[in-house]
Amino acid sequence: MLKKGTKLFSILKRKCPHCQEGEFFVSGPYNFKNLGKVHESCSVCKESFSKEPGFYYGAMYVSYALGVAVFVAVFLLTYLFYPNPGAFEYILFIGIAMVVLGPFLYSLSKIIWANLFMSYKKKI
Ligand SMILES: [Zn+2]
Repeated sequence: MLKKGTKLFSILKRKCPHCQEGEFFVSGPYNFKNLGKVHESCSVCKESFSKEPGFYYGAMYVSYALGVAVFVAVFLLTYLFYPNPGAFEYILFIGIAMVVLGPFLYSLSKIIWANLFMSYKKKI
């Protein structure tokens, strides 16, 4: 069960880290016109989504960790389910996974980063 008030709720539902009601992103992860674009502030609670200039540069660290996780997962899946994989198959499948999941991981890293520094504030 995904409970409101937890950081996981905000991350998976892509909601504002403060009130968890307003939308965090301008659009979905695969809308290439607004790729990973975050609203200036929450439409519901009016909290700013950008604490300082360049705040989301830090999301690179999260993105790197997610990338490594995908790399390991695809590597293991290839090892387990592909008959006798060679270097080419590993590179191919990991490359495909990175390209396909790239936009999703990019937006996911931003909202995880935001959730590291912003916390849920229950409405009174
Ligand atoms: Zn909000």
